[in-house]
Amino acid sequence: MIPFLDLKKLNAPYEDVFKTKFSEFLANGNYILGDAVVAFESQFANFCGTDYCIGTGSGLDALRLIFEAYKIQGKLKKGDSVLLAANSYIATVLAVLHAGLKPVFVEIESAIFNIDLELLSKPEASVKAILITHLYGQLGPMNAILAYAKEHDLLVVEDASQAHGATLQEKKAGSFGETAAFSFYPTKNLGALGDGGAITTSDANLATILKSLRNYGRSAAHTNEYVGFNSRLDALQALFLSEKLKSVSAENQTRQNLAIRYLAEIKNPLIKLPFWLGSANHVFYLFVILVKDRASFLSYLDLNGIGYLLHYPVPPYQQQALKSYAYLSFPITEHVANTCVSIPLNPVLSKLEIDRIIKVLNQYHA
Ligand SMILES: *Cc1c(COP(=O)(O)O)cnc(C)c1O
Repeated sequence: MIPFLDLKKLNAPYEDVFKTKFSEFLANGNYILGDAVVAFESQFANFCGTDYCIGTGSGLDALRLIFEAYKIQGKLKKGDSVLLAANSYIATVLAVLHAGLKPVFVEIESAIFNIDLELLSKPEASVKAILITHLYGQLGPMNAILAYAKEHDLLVVEDASQAHGATLQEKKAGSFGETAAFSFYPTKNLGALGDGGAITTSDANLATILKSLRNYGRSAAHTNEYVGFNSRLDALQALFLSEKLKSVSAENQTRQNLAIRYLAEIKNPLIKLPFWLGSANHVFYLFVILVKDRASFLSYLDLNGIGYLLHYPVPPYQQQALKSYAYLSFPITEHVANTCVSIPLNPVLSKLEIDRIIKVLNQYHA
């Protein structure tokens, strides 16, 4: 059996350093925020090329806090609308809803599975922001999005939870918009050993608000300026993340090399491979293929012992939780939802496993 992702194997190389860091952590007694969080925040801001990084409890919280901070700054208010791709992961949409904002779903195009730029006409007056998810690890069309946002005076927020390190013209995911959210969920390209998230920004005022918001809205001892949250990046996770951050670029390179092999060697008319320009703009959090008769293909993978996942078989607007949006229909989004299969692509697959995945996929027939 080739697992979709073996998290134990992924973290095994860090076992010794994690144990040392844990012993120091235990002895030092500083379990909330503190030096470990400050150090990681500075390293991650540096990695992304932003002035500030604010660690949070999760990726979802990072997005929620961004919207709350904009409400405090007066740049957004309850009831404003946010443009986002119809195929975003549910967390992206939940954050918008939690903040009392309205998601405006935009159909995707089938190359990079992101907002179809041709459908972006003049936005309605209530639209104040655009939320771009770099889905599967590939940057959205940022130059066009930034130009569109400038023309219509929209805030640009990135959901970079799947794209740590993705780079376009020397700029990294998390540095294109005014703000960006990251998740350090264990499976992500930079994953913790539990929940964690972060916000990157170069807006000093916003960074101050965000630091306060994640910590009960506190601005000084016994002083609460905002109706805040408790969503701090865990100090132990910050220590682990600082260690793993050192290898993210190399691991992304390994992922890209594996994608190059898949794209060159998987040759099967029943399998549609993902589009990639071949630059550093894609860090292959996921390698998503499209297969028309998915049910039979999945049985075939089961039979051959190859792990897989689906990202994502139900678009957010079709979820029970969003039933007021159930009237919507986006044919390309739904086609992708009905045919997508994520096959194993990660830095701990062996050459033998990769060879086998390619062979099994090439031998699939109707
Ligand atoms: C993982 C993910 C999130 C949520 O992250 P959590 O840390 O689990 O809250 C949000 N958006 C996208 C696109 C993700 O992939």
